[in-house]
Amino acid sequence: MLQAAPRLLITLRREQDGEAVVASPWLQALQAFHRLAWGSVLDAGDLPALLTQPDSQVFRADTQALPEPARRPRPALAAGLLNKTFSAGAYQQLLDCPYQYYAARCLRLSPPEEIRLALSRADYGARVHQCLQAFHTDVPGLPGPFPEPLGDHNRAAAERLLNGIAAAVFAQDLADNFEHHGWLRQWQRQIPEYLDWQQERSLTWQVDRAEVRLEIEPEPGLRLQGQLDRIDRQAAALSVLDYKTGTVPAQAEVDAGEAVQLPVYAQLAGTDSGTVVSEAIYLALGNDGTVKTTVWLEDEALGRLARDNGARLVEVVGEMEAAQPLPAWGDSRTCRWCDMALLCRRQAWEETEESSKAGGTGQ
Ligand code: SF4
Repeated sequence: MLQAAPRLLITLRREQDGEAVVASPWLQALQAFHRLAWGSVLDAGDLPALLTQPDSQVFRADTQALPEPARRPRPALAAGLLNKTFSAGAYQQLLDCPYQYYAARCLRLSPPEEIRLALSRADYGARVHQCLQAFHTDVPGLPGPFPEPLGDHNRAAAERLLNGIAAAVFAQDLADNFEHHGWLRQWQRQIPEYLDWQQERSLTWQVDRAEVRLEIEPEPGLRLQGQLDRIDRQAAALSVLDYKTGTVPAQAEVDAGEAVQLPVYAQLAGTDSGTVVSEAIYLALGNDGTVKTTVWLEDEALGRLARDNGARLVEVVGEMEAAQPLPAWGDSRTCRWCDMALLCRRQAWEETEESSKAGGTGQ
């Protein structure tokens, strides 16, 4: 702007509520530069004189109406923007905040992934998943799998193998950054605990498949897909497992249908195989080295949730096709990690809503 205009008037408040207002650092830098370069101050000499004129009056030069106060966004989906292929993550995002889903998945405004020099917790989780996949099923280029049912007689061999797999999986990370030893140690400390859990588990369930990518078509044109960490088998029933190295949804959220991953996976595994899925669990691999089942869905409760979740997805997709609005929920737990916060202007419309509630105009 300085370069574009022959003459520029910058105005600023000297005081507010009787207190002196400090000029912006940009303006101070400009003034200092002018003083040093030309030896004079930038004050507009004729303006103070105008203020002392008895005929001087304040008048409003800007006659345009004030902009509308920010409102909670509720866009309707334009035809052609709906992607009718849903992962469990996309479905969850749609439930957590329809506007976030709209901006991230329909407008495709998600920021690109950052290039990281150090492993994140999500990267660590991916490595642990890979270790367990190689331990239970064949992964080209990695040691394993462990071929026999786990028991006291072969427990030491299983531990050696899983440690060897871990060393192979983390090898490149260790070469990249010495600090990654910490992640490897964390997992290796957890291996005995995992094997304890697995040994008990193998009394009733056998590993059937690991890292399975499944896709079904609940209704023509609508696809539901997911990558299941593991499917176990017991006689004529299946169990789906999801390993969690980070936050695990609470049982109450899953029971209430608010956390959809396990029911979606049960629907995928059941429809794909034509076999009853009688159990779905989260296996939490905690930071403290513990390994435990934190969420457990079984039999009728699982079947009902899987059916209800599937039906709800069909219904919600129908509503989006009918141009029903996709509102920003403003749930603080979801907002905390939201990449779309600037776009949705949550802070601005929350202020509007608060001032409306307080009886103000919101302007
Ligand atoms: S900031 Fe909150 S309300 Fe806005 S899009 Fe994100 S999750 Fe939704």
